[in-house]
Amino acid sequence: MGTISQFCHEQGRSFLEAQRLTKTYQVGGSTVYALRDVDFTAAQGDFVVINGPSGSGKTTFLNLISAIDRPTEGEVVVEGVSTNTLNEKQLAQLRKEKIGLIFQTFNLIPVLSAAENAEYPLLLQKLSKSERAKRVDAILGEVGLRDLARRRPNELSGGQRQRIAIARALITQPKLVLADEPTANLDSETGAQVMNLMRTLNEEHCVVFIVVTHDPAVTQYARRQIRIHDGCLQEGGAHDVVDTASQPAA
Ligand code: ADP
Ligand code: MG
Repeated sequence: MGTISQFCHEQGRSFLEAQRLTKTYQVGGSTVYALRDVDFTAAQGDFVVINGPSGSGKTTFLNLISAIDRPTEGEVVVEGVSTNTLNEKQLAQLRKEKIGLIFQTFNLIPVLSAAENAEYPLLLQKLSKSERAKRVDAILGEVGLRDLARRRPNELSGGQRQRIAIARALITQPKLVLADEPTANLDSETGAQVMNLMRTLNEEHCVVFIVVTHDPAVTQYARRQIRIHDGCLQEGGAHDVVDTASQPAA
């Protein structure tokens, strides 16, 4: 992996490990393997793109490593703690403190403004109103939407909505951000801007990003590429081909 940033002091330190992860579903009396015996490690500073066709297990994989769902076999270890040993309350706490999520359909709350959507996860934390306002202002600045803070989602473009969703994912200062097909509802240029923004935030915040997608164009933003097929992961090597500085700002 290339050098990421002098700000990322813990770069390379293991953050998350998945061991022999298997997830099966029972469908009409037969067993469907959504994931088979998957080993995976993410280190601080990683920007991983997992590319595979529809039905290959991408969403299942994210649901397991974010502890939204439990594996049939195997385990996920986050900062040395096996999530198999945690109860539902502890898992919810882990998700709240350490993980940010970004979705294909943005999943913004229609009646809230851009700023209120970004702020939303902070309402679950014990922060003063002024501290929340400070954080919202800072993150909206980072995603380039300070001027549109009062707009509602239906008054924003797809790219702007996804940038709000990215702000919402990062506002709790998570260590891991998971994105499920984040560019699927965007045109290719807007998708490129969103990917560039995520790369910049990965470097500036030293946050692990794991992006799953069926779109091969997204893999060019990876520091590390992985293929997924029929529930099996295949490491595709590391590279640093994207020069984010030369790309248009998102
Ligand atoms: P992807 O996100 O790559 O499109 P998924 O992780 O959603 O793939 O699904 C992987 C496989 O598991 C597919 O064959 C899918 O049909 C199956 N699957 C996913 N969720 C369920 C479920 N709740 N019940 C039964 N089968 C499921
Ligand atoms: Mg999916």
